[in-house]
Amino acid sequence: MQLEVINDIPLNVNLKEFIELKKIRRVDEIEVKKILETGVALAKPKALITFINVKKIDGIKVYVEGEHVFESKILSDRLKVGQPIAVYVITIGDNVERKASELAKESVVKAFVLESVGDYLLSKAREHVKGIVESRLGGKISSFAPGTGRGDLFDIKQQEVIFRMMEPWKHIGVYLTENFLMIPRKSSSGVFAVSEEEYVACMYCPRKCENRRKPFIGVYGEIKCSQT
Ligand code: SF4
Repeated sequence: MQLEVINDIPLNVNLKEFIELKKIRRVDEIEVKKILETGVALAKPKALITFINVKKIDGIKVYVEGEHVFESKILSDRLKVGQPIAVYVITIGDNVERKASELAKESVVKAFVLESVGDYLLSKAREHVKGIVESRLGGKISSFAPGTGRGDLFDIKQQEVIFRMMEPWKHIGVYLTENFLMIPRKSSSGVFAVSEEEYVACMYCPRKCENRRKPFIGVYGEIKCSQT
């Protein structure tokens, strides 16, 4: 299995987009701009990816190259045997979150804005990596991330499979806690794959959430037989 580190990740930020996306209200725009610039200066975006093939699907078990097995209803439903997928871990490092903690002593509002900047920058880094994967896999890709939505379609415990497979702490300094959370916090992991039907976890997640990217269409309930 070949691992690839991507260091050169541009963060193409836009102040208006950030304010709208993160619903930043009642903070002076000049102040927000300064905080956004601080975040960009502090962020150290990096990604680790590997392209592997799906070997076998049995029930909710998805066997991939390198003897690794994901257990996930959504992956077993949406992937096909022989299909190439990209497993990824992306981070912007811990500088932004550390600065936000410092800033909290001075202003909780500014700290909140910087935290939101961190999320925004991570989404920008992710967008860039997704574009790279899309051009290599040659199709519209969906992202499947452990623990997203209600967590029942791809359990957060499946982070262990990704971390065992790629050992991201060695390559880009991302660690997994006992509770399957990533350190630095502004990190993201999962599987990118071409999927006939677009999958966005929000579609099956009933939570009231300001980060929602697609409307809720109902609880995912497709029943699938095993296939090899
Ligand atoms: S609605 Fe919010 S909590 Fe649910 S999957 Fe989307 S971003 Fe996550």
